[in-house]
Amino acid sequence: MTESAGINCVEVTKTFGSADQALRQVTVSCRAGETLTLVGPSGCGKTTLLRCIAGLDNPTSGAIWINGRDMTHADPQRRSTAMVFQNYALYPAKTVAANIEFPLLMAKVPRRERAERVTEIAKLLRLTNHLGKKPAQLSGGQKQRVGIGRALIRRPSVLLMDEPLSNLDAALRVDMRAELHELFRRLGATVVYVTHDQTEALTLGDQVAVLNDGQLQQQATPREVYTRPANRFTASFLGAMNLLDGTVQDGHFRTPDRSPIVELRAPTPAATACIGIRPEDLQAGELPAGRSQVTLTGKVSLVELLGSEELTYITLTSGHKLKARLPAGTVTADTVRLSVDVERLHLFDTEGRRIDVSPAWHQESAAVAGPPSTVYSH
Ligand code: ATP
Repeated sequence: MTESAGINCVEVTKTFGSADQALRQVTVSCRAGETLTLVGPSGCGKTTLLRCIAGLDNPTSGAIWINGRDMTHADPQRRSTAMVFQNYALYPAKTVAANIEFPLLMAKVPRRERAERVTEIAKLLRLTNHLGKKPAQLSGGQKQRVGIGRALIRRPSVLLMDEPLSNLDAALRVDMRAELHELFRRLGATVVYVTHDQTEALTLGDQVAVLNDGQLQQQATPREVYTRPANRFTASFLGAMNLLDGTVQDGHFRTPDRSPIVELRAPTPAATACIGIRPEDLQAGELPAGRSQVTLTGKVSLVELLGSEELTYITLTSGHKLKARLPAGTVTADTVRLSVDVERLHLFDTEGRRIDVSPAWHQESAAVAGPPSTVYSH
């Protein structure tokens, strides 16, 4: 694995001072030409890992492999990486052209080649008409494109991006996200992209690595981390899954006072300490007959209109709170009856780890399913 092209971080630990562990044995990787997004809450170690890859920080232990070479202790200049920062870090007195050209000037690249490469990069990033301007005359998105241009002009084999869109307003972020996606595809570059924004992580990454408190929670494709989160943290950080805590008694999932939260015909695995349901997997009313489903009834405490959808906050009689994403206008009363397909349930154990349920478990639920529902909650 470490010999392959791309990035391989192997058991990287970074300790600041005597005790502060910013990274704890983090192993992540991406292949050449792929984008790896590092996502997690503030302080989880994303930037520290990026800086270790760039060579701006040294890991306390572990190894960083870049394109098959052990670069753990190599100078940043030898790594063929380029970094794009959140705050653009442009020279205010220089023109756009001079900002983009600067790394080549430092590398003593001849004038003519510099000019050709600036023209090429400006075309790629749609900055041709802005080359004579100063940064203060640019929009936030244009400034960030100049920052990206300055990184790309060195033709690095790896592009490292630290929250490049976080200074932009919401609408511009969405536009720039799509632009970056397109750019990464066209360049075929290997990119490591730090963000705390789950949408950016899922849309831009070929691989997503979720970090919390200096530890890797899961690395997988966006689809995998979303549909099969490895633990409670990933489940709630990406997509804000509803997590219902309880215990299994007599094969059913109950609150400590034994009232059923979710009563499944097929016995719930005994280790289950939490059932997760995505807000968008909840549907008003019941699913078509024959589908194995969980039906929940609760009191509506708040409805937030999001445009075509509404986010509905519901309190079950067990006291558990849920959010459901429903089509706008669905909720018209104080109580609501919701259903979710049994196949969409996520189970977690007392340590918060995912419990993988066999397809037979779903089938068993389905086999005993008599319409309208197999599962009830009060
Ligand atoms: P954010 O999203 O807020 O930028 P992050 O996930 O990028 O956060 P890091 O900047 O990597 O987090 O920081 C991880 C931990 O390491 C934090 O607890 C931080 O305080 C600590 N840390 C980072 N750099 C240093 C440093 N130079 N000296 C001491 N502690 C540091």
